[in-house]
This record gives sequence, C-alpha cells and structure tokens, in this order.
Amino acid sequence: MRTPAGVECPYFYGNYFRGRSEEECRLIGPKAPPGNWTPNLCKNCPVPAIARANACENMVLTAQVRSNLFGLIRRVDVQAYCTLSKTDVKEPQIGCGQCHPLPDEFTLKDQP
Ligand code: SF4
Repeated sequence: MRTPAGVECPYFYGNYFRGRSEEECRLIGPKAPPGNWTPNLCKNCPVPAIARANACENMVLTAQVRSNLFGLIRRVDVQAYCTLSKTDVKEPQIGCGQCHPLPDEFTLKDQP
C-alpha cells in the first residue's frame, strides 16, 4: 500500500473506507510514545527501498523508532535477520548471500 510519503510499503496499512482515516505501520506496530509510529516517519524510512531491492522470504525485518537531539529528530531503525542462515543481515538490500549466492564469475577465488 502507498504510504503518506508516496512510496509502496508492504507494512503500511490505511483504511479510508467511508470517511475513515486509519493509518498504521504494521512493522513498528502500536507502541507508546516516544517509540510510536507517526505518518511523517515514512518519508525517510529505509524499508520501502529494502523491500524493492530484496524480496527474500527468509529475511525478517524488525524496526524501532529512534529519537535523538532531545527527541526532535525521529527515524526508523531497521534490523534484518535471516531465518535460513540464522544470522543478522548487515546489508538488508543485498541479503546475507546464503540462498542467492553470486555466480563463480563474480566471486574472488584464489588466483593461480
Ligand atoms: S514507517 Fe517505514 S515500514 Fe512503516 S509504513 Fe512507513 S515506510 Fe513502511
């Protein structure tokens, strides 16, 4: 579904049926302030770009709202975990490489 920032996100849900205006982030979920989701967080959230770049079904995303500068700046902090390799994924847009290995032509092997 399209977020208030105008990009597709698999975790955004909006219900506008018959005048309703319910919006939620189903990745962050309902949280008490200051960790609560607000629509303006979608503007700089990395999740839509991650979802476009990597559709691996073994990768599980979790997210929290982090705030700094006395709570004035809030942003979405995303972690990724691979249920296949059972490791944290450092580059969620690329993946851990366990189930989608690069062909030999693209890997560095011992040179003769
Ligand atoms: S905060 Fe991020 S994950 Fe949540 S709905 Fe907005 S773009 Fe999607």
